[in-house]
Amino acid sequence: MEAAACGTSIDPEISRGVRHASAERGSAPLTFRISAKRATSGDMSDPVLTFTKAGIYCPAGDFHVDPWRPVDRALITHGHADHARPGHKSYLATHAAGPVLRHRLGDIALDGIAYGEVRQIGGASVSFHPAGHVPGSAQIRVEVAGEVWVVSGDYKTEDDGLSEPFEPVKCHAFITECTFGLPVFNWAPQTEVAREINAWWATAAEQGKTAMLGAYSLGKAQRLLSRLDPDIGPILTHGAVENTNAVLRDQGLVLPDTVLVTPEVSAKSHPGSIVIAPPSALGSAWAKRFGPVTDGFASGWMALRGIRRRRSGDRGFVISDHADWAGLNSAIAATGAERIFVTHGYTSIFRRWLEDQGYDAQIVETEFEGEAVDASAEGDAA
Ligand SMILES: [Zn+2]
Ligand SMILES: [Zn+2]
Repeated sequence: MEAAACGTSIDPEISRGVRHASAERGSAPLTFRISAKRATSGDMSDPVLTFTKAGIYCPAGDFHVDPWRPVDRALITHGHADHARPGHKSYLATHAAGPVLRHRLGDIALDGIAYGEVRQIGGASVSFHPAGHVPGSAQIRVEVAGEVWVVSGDYKTEDDGLSEPFEPVKCHAFITECTFGLPVFNWAPQTEVAREINAWWATAAEQGKTAMLGAYSLGKAQRLLSRLDPDIGPILTHGAVENTNAVLRDQGLVLPDTVLVTPEVSAKSHPGSIVIAPPSALGSAWAKRFGPVTDGFASGWMALRGIRRRRSGDRGFVISDHADWAGLNSAIAATGAERIFVTHGYTSIFRRWLEDQGYDAQIVETEFEGEAVDASAEGDAA
């Protein structure tokens, strides 16, 4: 099974570097201990969500959100491998996320929910709201006794035309990812990036080369596909990408025509083509039949010059399925929340920034953030 994930791991080396850098800047992770809370304030009830070894947990509803250890009841924001793990007794996700979850996790006990539908789970009211990250992705709103917390999952604020567009949800506390929580991450409009990609492909075709574009198979690949200009040449896809395309097309997602790469497909049979493949396929033996090739890689990390140089790709395109600095800040402001929990990415810097803006901001460390997740993840959808 393919393990495309979407956390912060462009490659293990880079994300380890990032994490070590932020760890060195200090700032202890926040850990909730319910018993300790009770001990210091006897009449205080449980917080709406707590952070446990298995992940984010709701005591009132006895469920977890995107847990990384097997649990009885898991609410899943989206199908990337660092959020949707195997082994839970039951799963709840949006109807739109369901087919990808089944494709990736097999025969699971999966219940679907519509965006905006309110479900009572124990003492908690739960609803899912568009996160704009990949098709089917959701933020999860949890309300207990009038107090509302929202778990963002991964999100982006730019409407990509395929994913259900991000909707801010009012809440008292917001648990937000901050993968790209530095001002240097400032995305150009996707139409501009698409123009760059099409121009790069057209040039390659003119030079008799195949354009090989690395993109994670869920989300990024379809987003890029939908913006390619089919007049330039044939659009070929690696099997991992095409499998996900098939699942999403079955759900009604409209994508341009693609040709699955089989042993019969090569640069000779399809001159002037672009190939969309997982990043791991770039430079591999599989790619040889398309030589001469020019490699491209599409990721938010391409905004960092050092990382651009370290990638083997000939060309980096800065496009991400996560919010940029401005997107994070506008999304957080739109929630109206006073308490912000930051996770994934530049947490120390971003927390300090939020405190300076007057928020009550804390860091949530995820259990396997760092090497374990990085090692298991094929890459990210950043
Ligand atoms: Zn993701
Ligand atoms: Zn993620």
